[in-house]
Amino acid sequence: MNTHKDRALGMRRDITRRDFLNGVAVGVGGLLAAPPLLGRAFPDEFAPEKATDYYPPALQGMRGNHDGTFTYAHRLRDGESWDSDGGATKTGETYDLVVVGGGISGLAAAYFYRKQAGENARILILDNHDDFGGHAKRNEFHAANRMLLSYGGTQSIDSPGRYSKVARGLLTELGVETERFYKAYDQKLYSTLGTAVFYDRETFGEDRLVPGLGSTPWAEFLAKSPMSSAVQKDLVRVYTEKVDYLSDLSPQQKRAKLAKISYADFLTTICKVHPDALKFFQSYTNDLFAVGIDAVPALACYQETDDYGGYAYAGFQGMNLEEEREREEPYIFHFPDGNASIARLLVRSMIPAAIPGRSMDDVVTARANYAKLDQADSKVRIRLNSTVMHVAQAGVNAASKEVDVSYERGKQLQSVRGKQCVLACYNGMIPYLCPELPEKQKEALSYLVKAPLVYTHVAIRNWTVFQKIGIHQIEAPGSFHTYVALDFPVSLGEYQFPSKPEEPMVLFMLRTPCKPGLSQREQHRAGRAELMRTAFSAFERNVRDQLGRMLGPSGFDPARDIEGITVNRWAHGYAYGYNSLFDPDWSEEEKPWVIGRKRFGQIAIANSDAAAIAYSDAAIDQAYRAVSELTQQGS
Ligand SMILES: Cc1cc2nc3c(=O)[nH]c(=O)nc-3n(C[C@H](O)[C@H](O)[C@H](O)COP(=O)(O)OP(=O)(O)OC[C@H]3O[C@@H](n4cnc5c(N)ncnc54)[C@H](O)[C@@H]3O)c2cc1C
Repeated sequence: MNTHKDRALGMRRDITRRDFLNGVAVGVGGLLAAPPLLGRAFPDEFAPEKATDYYPPALQGMRGNHDGTFTYAHRLRDGESWDSDGGATKTGETYDLVVVGGGISGLAAAYFYRKQAGENARILILDNHDDFGGHAKRNEFHAANRMLLSYGGTQSIDSPGRYSKVARGLLTELGVETERFYKAYDQKLYSTLGTAVFYDRETFGEDRLVPGLGSTPWAEFLAKSPMSSAVQKDLVRVYTEKVDYLSDLSPQQKRAKLAKISYADFLTTICKVHPDALKFFQSYTNDLFAVGIDAVPALACYQETDDYGGYAYAGFQGMNLEEEREREEPYIFHFPDGNASIARLLVRSMIPAAIPGRSMDDVVTARANYAKLDQADSKVRIRLNSTVMHVAQAGVNAASKEVDVSYERGKQLQSVRGKQCVLACYNGMIPYLCPELPEKQKEALSYLVKAPLVYTHVAIRNWTVFQKIGIHQIEAPGSFHTYVALDFPVSLGEYQFPSKPEEPMVLFMLRTPCKPGLSQREQHRAGRAELMRTAFSAFERNVRDQLGRMLGPSGFDPARDIEGITVNRWAHGYAYGYNSLFDPDWSEEEKPWVIGRKRFGQIAIANSDAAAIAYSDAAIDQAYRAVSELTQQGS
């Protein structure tokens, strides 16, 4: 570590983050030591949520899967076994439904169950994080006497026109009118600002920021890059020529071939571009697939219609694949805190005292009262900071009528009983929680390796440097964070987006810890291990260094201009989705997520993993299916 350089980057600046231990309020951080779990008398003495200053959305530092959430879960993974009587203190609580996982799927499961079973149904939702919402988390910053909102994970309601009747119906019942975003999202604000590519010296030989991606003619744009003239020429060619590179095949044969070849191999072996050109494209797929172009089928790139502002995937212009690509809706259905607003609306609908207000407008600025989430007199309760360790039928067989759920909370093992249970947690963890499941089902669940990715948010003093350069986003294919963008310009209710360049702003920075050369699932496993080894200080140093190198020549000073940093580390991020490069061509009933999500007695399985689709509507649809399986048994 170079302390002189660190000082110049502002590593020693006192930002709010330093009030917290790696983003975990001190009372919760004590979980790190992981002593053995013990039972103890109930009522629960460990209740950090009741503290008046308990407010996770405003925590900075390492968030997402923050420290303390995985300590005991990893011990379970590493071979320790627990059973419901293994020292667990019975709280004496009984519920109609216990839900494991307080993400959108778990919250939606509680909502649907209540709708079907009636408002008197008693429901407990358990989650291992210090905040509810799963990936749909809220980030708050306070800079220059104002609050800046952003999203910790789940970004937007993507293509609501394609939502199922169930998912659309839920949004409507929660008061979400998606057409309101056409006005709330300022579609003009960035219209004069473009995209730059940052070529970093480690990958491209020198640091250079080149604006004009997608808006400048390719030859002119690439001539300003530090890449060789041979590479530039190939890139211009593959972007501009309309050639059918597989003209001897029928459209169907072409699609079959492109499903089995990566986009990287398509470019080099079929379009014959120079191998060095791959560096330019390498991170194009990171955002959507959480792996680079080496592990994404070319066909999937073709099917991705978004043109990213004029720089869509190259090479398909003349391919005549005869596949209808649905016109995408604009990507504007975005609450200022992303889909955290959906999670918050779900919580409000079941525990009104926790989030004041009545509309999609006032939910944006409403301050959640975490002390109200787990009240004994409430029909629906949400218990945070509680990692479920064991879920078992209370009797000896699957026909048994009740379920015991044991969870770690404040280093203690407690257990509650539910008539029924929905597991809306990571499907890959279920075999550890429910060892009684059939072997074939456990094997199928274990196949689903979630994708690791990081959404870093950086509060900056103002965004004049972006205005000066004329950009609102940067592709940085070789850098630590491969994409950087100004936040989505949405004003809703009393929340006003910082639309003047002199105002403070939140920057989004994306990192996916990919390991090119491995299969997608192996990349996810290796990437997750890397994330768990990377301290917040390493993220901070990289953020400061990268922003300084990209924007410093135009006047940005990381030591002066950075007000706060929140690293949303999603070690367990996107649900695993079928990848035609690596996965067998399963029939419907052979798909691991279909086998994995089968009901087991009074236990049903939800989460977006159960659909193998990393979208909020999938999480909602799976919640509905799981609840219906429980409530309609035998009907
Ligand atoms: C960074 C990121 C961005 C995304 N962006 C979008 C987007 O823009 N639009 C979109 O539609 N989708 C997006 N998604 C997909 C997102 O996964 C879904 O939208 C949805 O939020 C998933 O909800 P879920 O409830 O199924 O899972 P999760 O949100 O993962 O919730 C499951 C919860 O269960 C908890 N849990 C797991 N094990 C246990 C245990 N043993 N005990 C207690 N709790 C446990 C987890 O910690 C988690 O809180 C994004 C995902 C990520 C990671």
